[in-house]
Amino acid sequence: MEIVCLDLEGVIIPEIWVNVAEKTRIEALRATTRDIPDYNELMQQRLRIMNENNLGLSIVQDVINSLEPLEGALEFLNKLRENFQVVILSDTFYEFAEPFMQKLGRPTLFCHRLETNSDGKITNYHLRMKDHKREAVQAFNSLNYTVYAAGDSYNDTSMLSEADYGFLFNAPENVITEFPQFPAIKTYNELQSEFEKASPRFNG
Ligand SMILES: [Mg+2]
Repeated sequence: MEIVCLDLEGVIIPEIWVNVAEKTRIEALRATTRDIPDYNELMQQRLRIMNENNLGLSIVQDVINSLEPLEGALEFLNKLRENFQVVILSDTFYEFAEPFMQKLGRPTLFCHRLETNSDGKITNYHLRMKDHKREAVQAFNSLNYTVYAAGDSYNDTSMLSEADYGFLFNAPENVITEFPQFPAIKTYNELQSEFEKASPRFNG
C-alpha cells in the first residue's frame, strides 16, 4: 500500500508570500523557507512586517484568489491520483490554501492555522504540530504504507528523509547542493515516472 506526499508551495502552487511581496511592494516579505530555514523565525518576521505595514489577512487572501496553480500542476495531480493516494503536506495555513483547494479538486491537505483579531489582522499562527511533515510520513509508515514524497525546499528535507523514496522537485541550486542524497527532479512527467518506477504495482 502506497501514499504520495507532496509539498504545496513551489511544487503545485506558486510561492504565496513572494506574490504578496510583489503586490504590496514590500520586498522583505519575499523571503521564503528557501532563504530562512527556521520556519518560526520566518513567520515571526512576516507577521511583524505585516503589522508594521498595517496589512491584514484580506490583502493576502486577495492575492491568493488572483493566483492559479503552477502550469501543468492540475493535470499532474489528476493523473497521479488515478494511480496513487495523494496527501499534501504543507507549512501554509488553511486560511491561505482554500482557494487553491477548490481549483485542485480538494486533495487531502495537512497544514496549519492562523489566528486573526476582529480587525482582520493576523495576530498569531498555530502549527498543528512541530515538524509535521516528518511526523505524517512516520505515521503513514507505521500504518504500513510505503511513502513517496516530493518537495522543493528546506522544510521538506525531513519529510524526504523519512519517506521510503524522497525527491526534490523544482528545488533551487542551494538546496540541491546541500541535499545531494535526494534526486533533483525538474518536470511533472519525470516525477510521475519516478513514483511509478518505485512502485511495485508498476513493476510486477
Ligand atoms: Mg515548498
